[in-house]
Amino acid sequence: LFQRECKFVAGAAAIDQLPPMGPIEVAFAGRSNVGKSSLLNALTGRKALARVSQNPGRTQQLNFFDLHGELVLVDMPGHGYAKVSKKTIHHWQHLIEAYLKGRANLRRLLLLIDSRHGFKESDQELMDLLDQSAMSYQVVMTKADTLKPAELAANQATFQAMIRRRPAAHPEILVTSAETGMGIAELRDALADLAAQ
Ligand code: GDP
Repeated sequence: LFQRECKFVAGAAAIDQLPPMGPIEVAFAGRSNVGKSSLLNALTGRKALARVSQNPGRTQQLNFFDLHGELVLVDMPGHGYAKVSKKTIHHWQHLIEAYLKGRANLRRLLLLIDSRHGFKESDQELMDLLDQSAMSYQVVMTKADTLKPAELAANQATFQAMIRRRPAAHPEILVTSAETGMGIAELRDALADLAAQ
């Protein structure tokens, strides 16, 4: 699935700009600077599929990338960025909510969290929205290389325990590093499984 070309399909800054529903979609969400662009690039083997951000909070739209008609990866705008206006945040929440609730082919959302920092308030808010919408999500820890193995394992256990307390059941946390490639093969396998279902 990840050996052939991954191509940009569309960017949507408003609900009426969403591309028509095609193959199943998996959305990538996370706070600005969590390492989402780096993970998408590592996953697809493209150096600049998603821009590695110099300006956090700048990715202002949902970006759709097609993996040869079998799976679409959706890069969601980074949330929890303090320096954007209330009006912009409101516009975003509206777009994201409309997308998450209205997209029948959206199979799963991957919620990226920094291995060092865990869940922030904006992550909790997104999880509340997802649980209310009965939307399946999987937590992906990023930048695993920044911690010693014992610290990483301890954080994973803490975050996993938090997920188990959520109202709905969700797949196990994946631990990744775009820097070392840790967990990338597992993430590709998980996505290929979803595409094959
Ligand atoms: P985005 O804003 O979520 O798209 O995050 P980026 O991919 O732009 O990454 C934000 C910062 O974290 C950049 O300085 C990256 O070099 C760094 N970063 C991303 N992934 C990793 C990783 O796996 N390990 C380490 N150590 N740093 C990373």
